[in-house]
Amino acid sequence: MSDSWSKEELLASVQAYIDMQRKERQGLPFTKKRYYEDLANRFGRTTKAFEYRMQNISYVMTLLGRDWLTGLKPAKNVGANVAEEIEALIAEVEGQKLVPVVAFEIEAREEGKRKNLARPGGTQNPHSALSTVTLYKRDAAVVAWVKQQAHGKCECCGLPAPFNGSDGQPYLEVHHVRRLADGGSDTVSNAVGLCPNCHRALHYSENAKGLVSKLYDRIPRLVRE
Ligand SMILES: [Zn+2]
Ligand SMILES: [Zn+2]
Repeated sequence: MSDSWSKEELLASVQAYIDMQRKERQGLPFTKKRYYEDLANRFGRTTKAFEYRMQNISYVMTLLGRDWLTGLKPAKNVGANVAEEIEALIAEVEGQKLVPVVAFEIEAREEGKRKNLARPGGTQNPHSALSTVTLYKRDAAVVAWVKQQAHGKCECCGLPAPFNGSDGQPYLEVHHVRRLADGGSDTVSNAVGLCPNCHRALHYSENAKGLVSKLYDRIPRLVRE
């Protein structure tokens, strides 16, 4: 993309994306093309350009470990700066304060593509920074109940927890199938006990959506949100 996008264009794209995601979740009808047409009329770019930007937004969502809009396959071709801007706009539109991770992740991925990297010196005393973030208050009873139901086995792959935690109990992590950040509830019909591998996969795998379907198929207590 040769000419750079203004903040207004990116903000309008993120607003449209989040609005479509909300409609998809609520089962309301909508047409993606209409959104692109509205944006195209407003800003004088092609509908294709906006569709591609939406796919960039999906990619940013994957870097955040979040769900993306069906049909808008994540498109990786986005610079770290624009991705960082999109990340900040998502937080702004959703009224959340999140730790920025996207630019760092893209830089690490880009660097990792180069062959025979020279061994980096690293940093002896990394700087720290304080930040304010949005946290969700979770119910410990939900965690305890879900873990009991799992009986020491991952509810995704079915394998025993890979190790015991410091409490001597099989180590499982409780995950919200519809993420709390995506408006999911903190209830047992939206929570599963997972091994760390499956938990990461549910957030970061390229097949995360497939794994979610599998969970809904095999765990009767889950209710789609
Ligand atoms: Zn597992
Ligand atoms: Zn999780």
